[in-house]
Amino acid sequence: MDPETNAADDATMPKDSSAPLISTLDFFLLSALIGFGVYWFFFRRDNSIKDDEFRKLSVVQPTLTRTDSFMDGFISRMKKGGRNIAIFYGSQTGTAEEFAGRLMKDAQRYGMKALVLDPEECSMDQLPEVINIEKSLAIFCMATYGEGDPTDNAQDFYEWLENCDEDLKGMKFAVFGLGNRTYEHYNSMAKFVDKRLEELGGERVYPLGLGDDDANIEEDFVTWKEGFWPAVCQNLGVESSGEDVSFRAYTLTVHDTDVLNMETVYTGEVARIKSYKNQRPPYDSKNPYLSPINVNRELHNGGDRSCMHIEFDITDTRIRYETGDHVAVYPVNDTTIVEAIGKRVGIDLDTIFSLNNLDEESNKKHPFPCPTSYRTALTHYLDIIHPPRTNVIHELIDYCSDEKDKDFLKSLSDPTPEGKKKYQEWVVDSRRNILAVLEEVPSCMPAMDHLCELMPRLQARYYSIASSPKAHPTSIHICAIVVEYTSKANRLIKGVATSYLKDKIPAGEMKHHVPVYVRKSQFRLPFKVSHPVMLIGPGTGLAPFIGFIQDRAYHKKNGKDVGDTILYTGFRKKAEDYIYQKELEAWKEEGVLSELHVAFSRDGPKKVYVQHLLMENKESVWKLISSQGHIYVCGDARHMARDVHDTIIAIVRDCGGKTEQQASDFVRGLQNKGRYSADVWS
Ligand code: NAP
Repeated sequence: MDPETNAADDATMPKDSSAPLISTLDFFLLSALIGFGVYWFFFRRDNSIKDDEFRKLSVVQPTLTRTDSFMDGFISRMKKGGRNIAIFYGSQTGTAEEFAGRLMKDAQRYGMKALVLDPEECSMDQLPEVINIEKSLAIFCMATYGEGDPTDNAQDFYEWLENCDEDLKGMKFAVFGLGNRTYEHYNSMAKFVDKRLEELGGERVYPLGLGDDDANIEEDFVTWKEGFWPAVCQNLGVESSGEDVSFRAYTLTVHDTDVLNMETVYTGEVARIKSYKNQRPPYDSKNPYLSPINVNRELHNGGDRSCMHIEFDITDTRIRYETGDHVAVYPVNDTTIVEAIGKRVGIDLDTIFSLNNLDEESNKKHPFPCPTSYRTALTHYLDIIHPPRTNVIHELIDYCSDEKDKDFLKSLSDPTPEGKKKYQEWVVDSRRNILAVLEEVPSCMPAMDHLCELMPRLQARYYSIASSPKAHPTSIHICAIVVEYTSKANRLIKGVATSYLKDKIPAGEMKHHVPVYVRKSQFRLPFKVSHPVMLIGPGTGLAPFIGFIQDRAYHKKNGKDVGDTILYTGFRKKAEDYIYQKELEAWKEEGVLSELHVAFSRDGPKKVYVQHLLMENKESVWKLISSQGHIYVCGDARHMARDVHDTIIAIVRDCGGKTEQQASDFVRGLQNKGRYSADVWS
């Protein structure tokens, strides 16, 4: 029933049941009301196209309520700037956005003009209108996130594309995907967009490109582009071979600090100026909370690695989290590397500058918050540790005065098989950062502002939350191994975030503050606490399960009928890296953990892993699976999660009397029903 009609009926309901239902006066009032309603409806339809569009958006596509941040939409912006290519990106860590920007510069080399667009800021129902632009093309750089999910900024676009029935007949498109082969749903977003655009009538101008971040996504992208641009030129009838010229996307302004209001200078804030001084909830990715670190202690008892247990204080912040969520930490780069870059490039790091987008139609005015100093940009905003991509190496060539250096950089950025191999070995495998590259080409003196334009944004790092809000409502715990290793080229490599966190040890009242926010996840305990759960997480893969177990302990203490909680975890050596041993053994003792299975891989003559213990207990594993049990896996995606998955299939096959195929389908069914969940990292 229509709720509005219902409400009106209630309002006119006669008190006396013997009275006629509608009096003459009521009849007139009702007629007037209907008449006004009809007039209002048609008046709106005839005179307010914008509202009508809004109605269509909010009714037919409820998820696309955000309109273009530019009032006139992306099509009119394309027309205004004489652009024929729209490049959309679905980006979580910035790489898809970076690739979209590179395609935009490529388009310029081929004599075309492109506009880079964030689908979250566009009315995507304008997509069919792309065809109205001469020689037009829509390119999609789509990253797949987590368990085959769209990135946050592509969520609405994904839902719109899935549900819409737009006619995209003749719309030329191409898709490049960014994924990771170690994950089960490899590049699923790009595959979906590519397939769906074709189903709606789009014309694919070049086959779907699949980038694999586990191997070499840069090489995949460069190889795809090599075939892509000639195909585009041919398809659109553009005669160009792509000139090898450098284009700048941003222009530099150096500010005079004598006249600049220093209150307007960013000092590391993610978005809002002075947000770290005037902290205001709600806290999110654009407005992180500067959390005090209450605890930072070592979890390992020996060995050559360090594992930190960190507790972030969220008292009085309105920050809410659930077990299974992730906490994001905005790290800060090593100041010695920042200083060294400044020295190498010969600039005053305290120069205040702005980089302003040359493209007035772009949504992005600056590549990072501006005005700021080079020191702040290198410390807070730019990823100076990631090996520079081939386009960055290529741009450095022009800054060399020595031919030998030029030739060397050319050989690294050449899109030939030899060039790709050399880049992979010399830059990627040896983990050379921008400073290490510059140190090997002494005559190269790049402009600092150009480097700032080319380097990717420093991203927040996500950690599985190792606590339950039921046990710890005012703090968020994580555990993390400090990343430190020697690369193939014998260079000491340090993880940006864990190096930043490791020294943040509270000393009495003195506490370090770190910008954090909570990111919701799908990794959730079953709704019914009575359902049994099996948690499989070796190493720091144990993190979210500490929260899960605290949750179960809370319910048990409160007299709830809690199902079995079975944990499979594993470490290298019992005496060294068995983290949370005391807590786990106490939970086992108290009956919070029904079973505790720990595999030690380096204590005996043979490696023992969690999957070996699962296989040893296959009958009880099968019993859990066949009695509404839920399986959770956390940790390494590349090997462990796959091996565990294969083991579960083998157990279903052996104990459930199924063929390999039937067992595999059965496990897929468990995944689809949310009874087999993974939170894995590579
Ligand atoms: P780790 O100490 O290196 O490994 C834990 C145990 O797993 C070791 O006994 C190891 O044995 C064993 N193992 C190795 N290969 C395995 C396989 N194929 N199947 C089953 N077990 C295997 O682990 P970690 O350093 O804590 O890292 C765990 C994973 O979590 C890493 O992949 C890491 O990237 C990921 N991670 C988790 C988080 C989080 O917050 N949860 C954050 C970042 C990363 P051997 O080494 O002796 O072979």
